[in-house]
Amino acid sequence: MVKIQRLVIQGFKSFKRKVSIPLPTGFSVVTGPNGSGKSNLSDAISFVLGRTSSRTLRAKRTHELIFHGSKKKSGSDFAKVAIYFDNSKKILPLEDESVSISRRINKKGVSTYRLNGKVITRQQVIDIFSQAGIHPDGHNIIQQGDVNQIVEMDAVERREIIDEISGIAEYDEKKRKAEKELEQIDVRIREAEILLQEKYQVIEKLRKERDAALRYKKFDKELKDVRAALLWKDFSGTKRGLGNAAEKLEEKEKLMEKLEKDIKDYDDKIAKEEKKLDGLTKQVFKASEQIDVSNRITKLRSELEIKQDKIGSNRREIDRLQSLIERVSQLDTKISPAFKSVENLRGVFGTVSNLINVPAEYRTAVEVAGGGHLNDIVVDTTTNTIKCVKYLKAKKIGRARFLPLDRVRSEKKPLPTGAIKWLSELITHESRYGPVMNYIFGSTALVKNADRAGEIAKRQRVRMVTPDGDLFEASGAITGGFYRKRGAGALNEINKYLEDKKKLEKEIDSLHIQIRDINEDLEILAEKEKRTKTADLEKERIRLDESLYRLREKRKEVYERRVELQQDISKLNIQKAKLEAKSEDLKFQWGEKDEIEDDIQDYINMSVAKLKELETNAIEGIQTLGPVNMKALEEFEMIKTEFEDFREKVDKIVDEKNSIMDTVKKIEKKRKETFIHTMSSIANHFREVYLELTEGEAGLELEDPENLESGLLIKAQPPGKKLLHIDSMSGGEKTLTAFAFLFAVQRHKPTPFYILDEADATLDRENTKRVVNLIKKQSNLAQFIVISHNDTLVREADQIYGVSMEDGESKIFGIELPQAEKMIEKEKQKNN
Ligand code: ATP
Ligand code: MG
Repeated sequence: MVKIQRLVIQGFKSFKRKVSIPLPTGFSVVTGPNGSGKSNLSDAISFVLGRTSSRTLRAKRTHELIFHGSKKKSGSDFAKVAIYFDNSKKILPLEDESVSISRRINKKGVSTYRLNGKVITRQQVIDIFSQAGIHPDGHNIIQQGDVNQIVEMDAVERREIIDEISGIAEYDEKKRKAEKELEQIDVRIREAEILLQEKYQVIEKLRKERDAALRYKKFDKELKDVRAALLWKDFSGTKRGLGNAAEKLEEKEKLMEKLEKDIKDYDDKIAKEEKKLDGLTKQVFKASEQIDVSNRITKLRSELEIKQDKIGSNRREIDRLQSLIERVSQLDTKISPAFKSVENLRGVFGTVSNLINVPAEYRTAVEVAGGGHLNDIVVDTTTNTIKCVKYLKAKKIGRARFLPLDRVRSEKKPLPTGAIKWLSELITHESRYGPVMNYIFGSTALVKNADRAGEIAKRQRVRMVTPDGDLFEASGAITGGFYRKRGAGALNEINKYLEDKKKLEKEIDSLHIQIRDINEDLEILAEKEKRTKTADLEKERIRLDESLYRLREKRKEVYERRVELQQDISKLNIQKAKLEAKSEDLKFQWGEKDEIEDDIQDYINMSVAKLKELETNAIEGIQTLGPVNMKALEEFEMIKTEFEDFREKVDKIVDEKNSIMDTVKKIEKKRKETFIHTMSSIANHFREVYLELTEGEAGLELEDPENLESGLLIKAQPPGKKLLHIDSMSGGEKTLTAFAFLFAVQRHKPTPFYILDEADATLDRENTKRVVNLIKKQSNLAQFIVISHNDTLVREADQIYGVSMEDGESKIFGIELPQAEKMIEKEKQKNN
């Protein structure tokens, strides 16, 4: 407990000189005559504790607190009061064990507070003392005449005393501060809400624009995606188409190759078959020819027969001619028997006349010119000639001139001018006889007539003959005249027969040859006829023909297919080229993208019709939107962020407000708890103390128990009396009740000291005793400084101070009880 050790007063009110009053613990009584300055001591304590109200310090103005002097004493320049506390228990929040607190006031009314000599502010003083429950206007200082105040005061004021005691003022202060903060916050919130509203309007406008932009973006994206999907579908479709076309093309080209091969195979087959057919045809043709052959055979055979017949007839004719020749020859003597005998020897050709043919007009000339040579025998070689000569000799047949072809030579001379030709040139014979004929006829020229011959003869020596038979020898001899054709008839006849015979023989030879040929032909034909069976061949030929027809048909079919295929291939190539071009174009449009975005994938799964519908919808959607502010997207986000930030700030402020409100609630709760605790504690003590003081019953209660702001009612019932209303209480009863309240408060929360300025004034001796006993009891817990004229009370005090006034200046001094009693008695008498 903080205790007042000493009170030092200087220049304060009636105390001019510095006076130091020790105040030991316990129960001190101050007594003295009226107006001596007792109450000024109480004022001095209130003054130093920081009381400011001049009125409660019983001065009109502050400077009146300074000793103003008297007739004999001069006034002071300042007033100063100091209290020395024992702070050994460190109740005051200071390190010092002894704490001095002083207040000095000058004439200007300026106060200076010091703590242990150091200037501090009044608030610091108040704060320090409040720690010990000491307040400048505390209920522990009961000024003169104020004791019943607690009973008489307004119930609400009284309740405010409980408030003060319970310390809820602290809460009130906090609450007030919080509420002030709340007000400020409310202002901030209101301002913020206005701003928020403005921003909200901006943001709402932007939101609409942004929504439009988003819708536009959505439509645009959808449009792009849908178009990409369509493009992709087109692209992939084209690619697929291209693949299919290429595949088909490949297929068709393969087929084409096959067809070409087939055609070639067919061509080969056809060529083969044709060749076969051709061969067969030829065979058939030949075979058909064979029919002719048969006919021919028949014909040839009949021809053969005819020819053989002819040969027979020719032979017979030859025989007849031979007999004729022989017969004629027998008649013609000129025909040498020698010739006849050698005629059939080897190498003998015949007589010259037999071997030449002479035109009729030159016959005479030839006979004349030839003369004896006409019977010369022409033989092939000299050897054979010698054989003939030997034969004639041996047979003794006769003589003959022989002309061996290998020996006889002649020279060719130039034809005399005017001659027709050499005779040799006018006759005809086999060429091999040329040398012989030339020898005989080559040097004799045919001339037109004898005259001409005569002319020529004049010029040159040359043998000449005329057609009439005039012969001009080279020697000059001329043989002429009428020429009788010597034996000409027979020779000619023979020659004719010989010729005919020769012809017939020739014909026979020819016929033999023909027969041989025919026979050969017949042999071949017969062979052919044997080899071939025409009907089978024809059948085969027909079969081949049919097969060929079928082959050609097939080839035609294949060829037509090939043509069709070619057309298909052309079409496919065109289609492929178109698709390639389209694909290239689409690829260009599609770009380098390899992967299809997921968004597009969804669209790709849709049908083209659906995609077209979506495309139309998107386009219409975009058109419906009209002009769109795309910046709204960014702006909105920006403003929204700002807005959100701002709203967050506002929310924080609101949170702050809520937190403060929460705090206020807590404060209120705490305040209520504290109040109720204090209230009930004091009420209990009040009942006890009242019982001790009066043996009656008393209580404290709120006018409205639910309302802590309501007034505090004191209910007292002195023993044997009914419950008294305050107004109906006697002064003493009121004072007792007030004391009960004072002590109840002290018991609840004792303050270090109590100053009671004549609080016992209205009490009778009995009640004073009760009060004194209680003070004594309570003085264990606190210092009691009691100003009193009551001897009952003085008698019980631990120490007594006497106050007197001399020349307007108060003096104080410690006195012993008898002196005090005397002093009191003296005063009583003075008052009486
Ligand atoms: P009572 O027994 O009648 O209550 P008291 O002892 O309490 O008397 P106070 O009221 O303390 O007397 O003192 C009053 C006296 O103080 C008065 O006589 C008054 O003239 C004197 N006084 C008051 N103020 C001053 C001042 N400023 N200077 C000088 N004297 C003063
Ligand atoms: Mg007084």
